[in-house]
Amino acid sequence: MDKHILPHDHGQKEELVLEKLPTVEECKMVADLFKQLSDGSRLRILWFLCHCEECVSNISAAMQMSDPAVSHHLKLLKNTGLIVSRRDGKEIYYRLADTQAAEYIHRICEEIFEMKCPLTR
Ligand SMILES: [Zn+2]
Repeated sequence: MDKHILPHDHGQKEELVLEKLPTVEECKMVADLFKQLSDGSRLRILWFLCHCEECVSNISAAMQMSDPAVSHHLKLLKNTGLIVSRRDGKEIYYRLADTQAAEYIHRICEEIFEMKCPLTR
């Protein structure tokens, strides 16, 4: 039976690829994840939170940015599930989420920066 479903037959086994082709929704999820890395300040905050849990005030001080600017980035990172927060009294602490995707992003960043992870000595 002819399994070619694309208009041009170039003799390739495209049905095997088409079978595994991710859905638009799946690709959007990954694209949204990488979109988080498209802003230098946000990437810097994310890298910082890969290695410590901190409150907005301390993150702002470390980044030398305003609290509202940092809060904006934290909200975007949290919406994508890359970071999580926990409340302790009046303080809210942020850190990298305990997910495979977050850990991959952590490793990818360090590969690209060609840096040693401060958590591995
Ligand atoms: Zn690291």
